[in-house]
Amino acid sequence: MEKNRSRNLSEEVLEKLSIFKDYWPMLKNNLRIRERKEKVLHEISHDLLGEVRRIKEEAIERLEDNIERLRRVLESRGAELRIARDGLEASRMVVDLCKQYNVKLVVKSKSLTTEEIKLNKFLESEGIEVVETDLGERIVQLAGHRPSHILGPAFHMTRYEVAQVLTRYYGRPIPPDPQEIVMEVRREFREKYLRAGMAITGANFIVAENGAVVLVTNEGNDRLSIAFTPIHVIIAGVEKILPTTKDVFKILKVLSRNATGQRLSSYTSFHIPTSISYPREGSVKPRKMIYILIDNGRIEAARDRDVKEALYCIRCASCLQVCPPYNIVGGHVFGYIYSGPMGIPWTMITHGVKNTEFAQLCNFCGLCKEACPVNIDLPYLNSITKERYGKKFGYPSINKNLKRYESFITLAANIPSLSNYFLSSKIGRKLIEMFIGLDSRRTLPKFSKNNLGEVFKEVGDGREGKVALFTDALVYYMYPEWGLKASEILSRLGFRVVLPKQKSSGMPLIQYGFIDEARKIARYNVESLYDLVEKGYKVVSVEPTAHYCLTYYYPKLLDTEISKNVAENSFGFFEFLKYIGLSKVTKILKSLDDMKITYHLPCHSRSRDGSMATKEFLESLGAKVFTKDVGCCGLAGTWGMKKGGHGYELSIEIGRIVVKQYEEMEGELIATESSICLQQLASLSKLPCNHVFDIVEISSD
Ligand code: SF4
Ligand code: SF4
Repeated sequence: MEKNRSRNLSEEVLEKLSIFKDYWPMLKNNLRIRERKEKVLHEISHDLLGEVRRIKEEAIERLEDNIERLRRVLESRGAELRIARDGLEASRMVVDLCKQYNVKLVVKSKSLTTEEIKLNKFLESEGIEVVETDLGERIVQLAGHRPSHILGPAFHMTRYEVAQVLTRYYGRPIPPDPQEIVMEVRREFREKYLRAGMAITGANFIVAENGAVVLVTNEGNDRLSIAFTPIHVIIAGVEKILPTTKDVFKILKVLSRNATGQRLSSYTSFHIPTSISYPREGSVKPRKMIYILIDNGRIEAARDRDVKEALYCIRCASCLQVCPPYNIVGGHVFGYIYSGPMGIPWTMITHGVKNTEFAQLCNFCGLCKEACPVNIDLPYLNSITKERYGKKFGYPSINKNLKRYESFITLAANIPSLSNYFLSSKIGRKLIEMFIGLDSRRTLPKFSKNNLGEVFKEVGDGREGKVALFTDALVYYMYPEWGLKASEILSRLGFRVVLPKQKSSGMPLIQYGFIDEARKIARYNVESLYDLVEKGYKVVSVEPTAHYCLTYYYPKLLDTEISKNVAENSFGFFEFLKYIGLSKVTKILKSLDDMKITYHLPCHSRSRDGSMATKEFLESLGAKVFTKDVGCCGLAGTWGMKKGGHGYELSIEIGRIVVKQYEEMEGELIATESSICLQQLASLSKLPCNHVFDIVEISSD
């Protein structure tokens, strides 16, 4: 069994936290792009997104047919197709071509796949000079770094660092001025383009029906690289093949808007094998196009039910732009070669699960899934990755402890006074840190004297319907008063409210890749709730995460009719109030009288259409509600409680950034409907932080 490297990952995070502190280059760059995107994303219809997903699904389903179709087309057009099993084979093919055509200098463009196979090193070891012609790629190449972002390879560097690198390389002072930097590199590139014997590019897409290599860039360097060289080698993953040009045009509409907020990138090129001349020594010869398509785990992934979805990725980087831990530590820690959320399954596919330890940085907020235009369930792919890593190399010990969280909580809840005494004592917290792994600095909620099951009474006459209340561990054992408040509101609205037998949602099990155990919990809860759904009950969840599990993860884990049925009849509490009509609700609750509230939207309450039921609810009661899309609070259940760089420390940095933005807004207090988010906000903010249930009061008349 390979050594578990958790400690090193933690150290890497701590190092980045100290380097990037209060600067956060990834976050700044990504926020800038996200602002631009806001202006154009609404132009993409849901139908088009669905169409893009369908195109990718079918392309992967027929991957092997598409390869053969492409091969026939290329042969008929004088081009060549080679399939490389892995990176080494692909690199050898390129070296052989260089030797065959006596190439000493290669210019490269748009070639993330060549990063995957570490081609540069291989070529350089054979004495072949390689020049990256994308500005960012060139900078990281000269700095000896690897790209930290799939769109902005040098996002982690300041202009001062870039200037230093170039000064060293060119042997003369280069000022830290972006214009000057561009002009210097451009001068160098011109000379390289003219001398190069081979251009290597990647491909955003390759069209099976005509062999077109589609490249989307903002620098046009692919065109310059290819224009002056007699040999064009295309290195791309096999999954880049699309059947038709029509498919490409559909995806292009989605890709540029999602990647950089542009309607179309500055350069979108279709390089098609044909008898094109190249202007060297006045000769007129067709340019040689050689396609090296790499398998490197992709074909196996295409046959893997749990993983193939990752191959639908169109490399737009939307998931990187929103990922909270990635935005703090960047792609050198949150990545292997591929970085960010998509980098987790892609590392597993191309470099093996042994290199995916950084998946532990994923806190399962779900923001990447929401941002992905192809609707790839990255959080779940990350769980699958964690599961496979755990089964092969061992789960991190803290995760193994947290797997038994339900037993710990039930046990402690039986002796609440003693447990609370222990939890509030220094020695108790140190022991918990030592034996379980929860950071002693994290404020933990206290156990209630009685849990919800002990104080709950079935209420309501049921004239408006019947509700089964579903909670989660925190509300059930620590804050039963919120469960009772929910029940009281519903009964006043004419619903019969019951509390069925239930376990907690099981989110930590899903989150940390204990899929089999999560499935057991899902089955238990679904079976318990289904009995009631069949009798006409609606399931109303008091916690956003509980609702998220019921409506999304349980059906995914179980794939049964009853889980789908329960999901269809499930609501988040405030979503349910909106469903029955807020005008009815306001009649039974006291007005909030212009209270100024900054509302925090929990990640698991986010709806795809952007609506916010809780915000609408608070506004219907007369509150002035301010909100901002600041993303995840950083606690993410037990994730931010864990001791270490990739738990507590990272969680706190994410939370600080969120809270700072809230404190700049006009709200006099912060409110949210998630008991978990509330823990984090309350521990970091100077403003009072409240659960929504603590703000609303039922009127006496
Ligand atoms: S679920 Fe959240 S933390 Fe995990 S990869 Fe996606 S965005 Fe990042
Ligand atoms: S996983 Fe989705 S969001 Fe991330 S790069 Fe791929 S297509 Fe874009």
